[in-house]
Amino acid sequence: MTNHEIKIAFQEYYSLEELSTADKSLCLEAVNALNNSHSPYSRFKVGAALRLQSGKIIYGSNQENAAYPSGLCAERVALFHWSANYPDDLVESIAITAHTNEFEISKPITPCGSCLQVMAEFEKKQGRPIQIILYCQNGAIWVAQGIESFLPFMFFEERLALPV
Ligand SMILES: [Zn+2]
Repeated sequence: MTNHEIKIAFQEYYSLEELSTADKSLCLEAVNALNNSHSPYSRFKVGAALRLQSGKIIYGSNQENAAYPSGLCAERVALFHWSANYPDDLVESIAITAHTNEFEISKPITPCGSCLQVMAEFEKKQGRPIQIILYCQNGAIWVAQGIESFLPFMFFEERLALPV
């Protein structure tokens, strides 16, 4: 028997002013993305903004449906839109934020496992880390330099071969 221990690394900031201009701006774009959230069931809005290498911003927000499993998280809405339309313009960074009128969100919300898995595969495909910024509008900001920090055990099997 062998014991294993994994450490993850991320930075915690306490104000947008501590971030670079580009990262601060991306957080504010994620807040803008909240406006198009379709979340009448959870009343929990999530906004995501991707910054591409060209500087282009891609928006995503959670899209719910009366047939609940038909909905999709903000992160995957943004990532699939990117992959379907701008796959050659690499993703530098993704900022994620949330808002609800039901209660105060006092810490950063983290992406679900499925979104992390999708991010991790696209990161591998583009061969370059995607910075992830989790922006709590009433609290801290968590920044990680690559998805592996939040999903060290992504599912990946080389023999399934990534499409080229
Ligand atoms: Zn998700």
